[in-house]
Amino acid sequence: MSRPGGADPDCDVLIVGAGLVGLALAPALAELGLGVALADRAPIRMPADPGGDADWDARVYAISPGSAAFLHRVGAWQMLPPERIAPVEAMRVAGDAGATLDFSAYDLGERALAWIVEERALRSVLVPRVHEAGVAMHAPRSVASLTWSRDAATVRFGDGSAVTARLVVAADGLRSPLRAAAGVGATMLPYGHTAVVANFRCERAHHGRARQWFRGDGSILAWLPLPGRRISIVWSAPEALARELLGLEPAALAARVAAAGGGALGELACVTPAAGFPLALMRVHSPIAHRLALAGDAAHGVHPLAGQGVNLGFGDAEALTAVLRERGPVDDAGAGVLLERYARHRVEPVRAMQAVTDGLWQVFGATAPWLRTARNFGMAAIDGLPLAKRLLAQSALR
Ligand SMILES: Cc1cc2nc3c(=O)[nH]c(=O)nc-3n(C[C@H](O)[C@H](O)[C@H](O)COP(=O)(O)OP(=O)(O)OC[C@H]3O[C@@H](n4cnc5c(N)ncnc54)[C@H](O)[C@@H]3O)c2cc1C
Repeated sequence: MSRPGGADPDCDVLIVGAGLVGLALAPALAELGLGVALADRAPIRMPADPGGDADWDARVYAISPGSAAFLHRVGAWQMLPPERIAPVEAMRVAGDAGATLDFSAYDLGERALAWIVEERALRSVLVPRVHEAGVAMHAPRSVASLTWSRDAATVRFGDGSAVTARLVVAADGLRSPLRAAAGVGATMLPYGHTAVVANFRCERAHHGRARQWFRGDGSILAWLPLPGRRISIVWSAPEALARELLGLEPAALAARVAAAGGGALGELACVTPAAGFPLALMRVHSPIAHRLALAGDAAHGVHPLAGQGVNLGFGDAEALTAVLRERGPVDDAGAGVLLERYARHRVEPVRAMQAVTDGLWQVFGATAPWLRTARNFGMAAIDGLPLAKRLLAQSALR
């Protein structure tokens, strides 16, 4: 790539944040022939090998078929060990007054509605791709400041070192220090809920079926199939309930989770201790600034009830890659015209996902009895409309 005016920057693109989104974006951009660097405050290395049956990562993701296809193009998906992936072949969503909504991959002509994969497994296939793609690593280094000239942006790290790039990508998470350093405004609306996650062995086979309950106490419980007779749960709970769940002994937690799911899979046994994640809706005022693009949680925070946060982030990575691949005669990876194209590509999917997840949360969080009847009626009605169901499911799949 030619260098328009001024001293040559160190690279075309510096990605700050080696979470899943930064790790996927780095090799995707490097494969375009761009000079790419990746920085993180923590070392960027392979996670330790899982050490046996009890060793399951409490952080698991429902990866949509669309994200899986992107990760495949990055060269990572096909490297995942099959024994650590579970297809979601069906899903049942239950309302708080008896209504249910069923989705089936078979009915949609898909192999799976989503794939459940541990964070650790995804990292272990993405980190080697970053190395193979020749991405320059700057880790562990924490961002201290961001400055700009007309032709480049410079990120300075806490240890005094600096990297100059045509384009800086902030993939540094929900509270993105880089976004703050760039002065990009964000509105953070805490849900007042904490997501409690843990993994369990179950007495009965789950047959690839995910389950989700919108409960009368305002909490939302999801059971996601893991390989074998195991499930992972995400229980989005008001603070008092979350504290109570996180304070339970493993056996008591397992009994509580089994009871909350109506014993659908028989008895449960806890295999990974519970962890809690406070939840917030976060909207940015703009996903771009001068020579800066936001990606992943730095660009949007959504409620995990639809399991779409990292999928949105992979969507950002895919869109930015497409914009830079199809940049035509524009040599400069940080050119305003390209950034605006990226922002236009992302505005609609991000808004739509935030509207759906936040809307569901509002509708099911309300306690008015008429609303309870209405939401369950709505669910039952959608369940009887195959076309509406197909539209709902297909947008989540992609
Ligand atoms: C309970 C729960 C369940 C979820 N389930 C799903 C699911 O099923 N499907 C789904 O799609 N999404 C899910 N999500 C959302 C998903 O976890 C996030 O969207 C995703 O992890 C965001 O990835 P990221 O790479 O954007 O950010 P992060 O994973 O937050 O990574 C940010 C990186 O930036 C680095 N960093 C931060 N500050 C600095 C700094 N100053 N200098 C240098 N580096 C820095 C950090 O070290 C980190 O490596 C869930 C979320 C929760 C809470």
